[in-house]
Amino acid sequence: MAKFSQIEKLAIWNAYKRKCFYCDIPIPRISNMHIEHIFPESLANKPQKFKEIKSQYDLPVDFDLNAYYNLVCSCSSDNWRKSNKIREKNVMLTYYSIAKEKEIIIKNLVKEYKNKLTGSKTLVSIRSILERKFLMPKEVVDLVHITEEMVKEVNNPLTITFTIYKEELDEIFYEWCDKCLDDITIRIQNNLSCLFAICEDNRNGEGYGVRIAFWGLDQQEFNENLGPKLLDWDIVEIMDFKSFYQRSAADLFFNLESDKDG
Ligand SMILES: [Zn+2]
Repeated sequence: MAKFSQIEKLAIWNAYKRKCFYCDIPIPRISNMHIEHIFPESLANKPQKFKEIKSQYDLPVDFDLNAYYNLVCSCSSDNWRKSNKIREKNVMLTYYSIAKEKEIIIKNLVKEYKNKLTGSKTLVSIRSILERKFLMPKEVVDLVHITEEMVKEVNNPLTITFTIYKEELDEIFYEWCDKCLDDITIRIQNNLSCLFAICEDNRNGEGYGVRIAFWGLDQQEFNENLGPKLLDWDIVEIMDFKSFYQRSAADLFFNLESDKDG
């Protein structure tokens, strides 16, 4: 089975407008989304059959079963219904042409999310410059530049919204929400080295959602360390703070700093 990163899942889900490609029903929870292969992934293990299919369906010889042009967002019943079936040529080619258009959107979204995640190395570089006693003129210029960048970053961190849904409620909802907040906070603390602060949380009776601001989030650390530890948590949004709140996050940042000192 192909593995997809949280970012890829989020991009596919949003590119298909959070709806099932086959039946158009809304998929409000990313955890309920299935990533469906238009031409089944199992063809990878049947080279002869795959070759025949490619010529029969006019597919390019280097057709990649795990490329975005062969992946769609699907509900669980269609995922189950479709499984390994290959339908008649005109249907499959229609699917393929739609997915090919979505491929560009998915790629752009993945790039956008990744850019946001790698956005900030400033807090790290300022530390390394300040560790030295004497600065070269160029370094002073760099430092001024970095300080300006840092102010921008302090004002405008990346925010990520995490959600989790409860299957059955055998405890008081509010207490369950409190536990969820502790749980995600611990997962982040244990797996990321950057600073973060809770912006707000949402307890709407169906599940629990929390938006968290990150300063200097490292993409690789995020993908490799936190990603696999998220388990039942979904990422449903990646945005910069200012676009969302229309204000600076400086208060949040400095509260966080004083909390750490105190
Ligand atoms: Zn469906």
